[in-house]
Amino acid sequence: MTYDPENIFAKILRGEIPCNKIYEDEFSLAFHDINPQAPVHALVIPKGEYISMADFTRNAPAELIAGFMRAVGKVADDLGVTDAGYRTIANAGPNSHQEVPHLHIHILAGRPLGPMLD
Ligand code: 5GP
Repeated sequence: MTYDPENIFAKILRGEIPCNKIYEDEFSLAFHDINPQAPVHALVIPKGEYISMADFTRNAPAELIAGFMRAVGKVADDLGVTDAGYRTIANAGPNSHQEVPHLHIHILAGRPLGPMLD
């Protein structure tokens, strides 16, 4: 599968469509999900053309991987959800119901989340 530069998160990264930004640095951009599934529902995406976690961990430079993962923790801290707890999800591929083919980590928090699947 090749990266589709017209996917919605690529457009957000290029500033072609707006987002409700939470955090940005040289490695990552974080913004609120447009259709939140919990009181806090953030998305963190790496700056680069990576479809999935597999693509990212195989092909991204270590500095970007480290920076991206640090951003996930920082966003949770900045949102004030670290102590109460949160869930991270990165869907990958058809069985996971991944809708946007640019790697993103969901941060879900703000209420007890219940069982993991569905
Ligand atoms: P996936 O199913 O690919 O893991 O998750 C994609 C997420 O992106 C969904 O939770 C969906 O609500 C969110 N989303 C889709 N389009 C947009 C958009 O244009 N802006 C924002 N902020 N979120 C979006």
